[in-house]
Amino acid sequence: MTWVWFDGTLGAGYQLGLEITATLYEHRTDHQHLAIYDTREFGRVLALDEVIQTSESDEFIYHEMMAHVPILAHGAVDDVCIIGGGDGGMLREVVKHPLQRATMVELDPAVVEMSREHLPRLSAGAFDHPCTNLLFADGAKYVAETDDRFDVIIIDSTDPLGPAEILFSEAFYADCKRCLKPGGILVTQNGVPMTQAEELTTSMRRLRRHFAEVSCYLAPVPTYFGGHMAFGWATDHAAHRTVSLQALTERHRATELNTRYYNPAIHQAAFALPNSVQALVNAGG
Ligand code: SAM
Repeated sequence: MTWVWFDGTLGAGYQLGLEITATLYEHRTDHQHLAIYDTREFGRVLALDEVIQTSESDEFIYHEMMAHVPILAHGAVDDVCIIGGGDGGMLREVVKHPLQRATMVELDPAVVEMSREHLPRLSAGAFDHPCTNLLFADGAKYVAETDDRFDVIIIDSTDPLGPAEILFSEAFYADCKRCLKPGGILVTQNGVPMTQAEELTTSMRRLRRHFAEVSCYLAPVPTYFGGHMAFGWATDHAAHRTVSLQALTERHRATELNTRYYNPAIHQAAFALPNSVQALVNAGG
């Protein structure tokens, strides 16, 4: 049995060990250490700088909740931007909706290339979808310079280390705000509150300087160790967060989404926060 240990570089004093059956790819790219393993329990796993990014076994939870919650809450989305998302799972879920365009801005072409080769079920052809606009660039530079505007922006980034650190900065959030159309929604990968509390509080504080309605919603992603994962939520249109179950059900039915985790009731429930997480959100007040 061969074990690989992950998440140690997060510096939170814990590691997650997975028994691997094969190393499919392992190299340092121009931006980060990229590895893809076959594991006994979680299928194929993508890791960047030794931090687990996604696994075949539970990626559907993360990608469905981060794509469908903002798109169905908004209700009239034409243009979506994904910052990061190199494995293609987020793009797969986003292009299930009838959109004008899904722009994906990924820093590292090697992540897309190796995910296409070794994790094809994640993107499931989304990179070649007619509404996909795939760009290789720094997401922070892109939002600072683009004239494009979006109804939903999804920050599907690595943790606030190395190349992704800037994607948690206030300047980046301000540029995302600039790139949103009126009533637009920004959602962020914001870590596991149990082990990354300061990350959530800091993001809430920075987002509140640019958005009227800031909170988070939760979903359990087993390979993100430590409990529920937080998705940052920021918009100027407060009503997006409290869309009725009936409206969500109608929108969900109209899109005929085939989902394994997302449903309208889970959507609504995800915003019901435990007191401990609400306190972290409020601390960023
Ligand atoms: N689902 C994962 C998670 O929750 O941790 C993240 C998925 S995806 C693999 C993260 C992507 O963010 C990587 O492909 C990485 O290259 C990309 N990334 C990191 N910094 C970036 C930046 N500044 N601009 C654009 N993409 C970036």
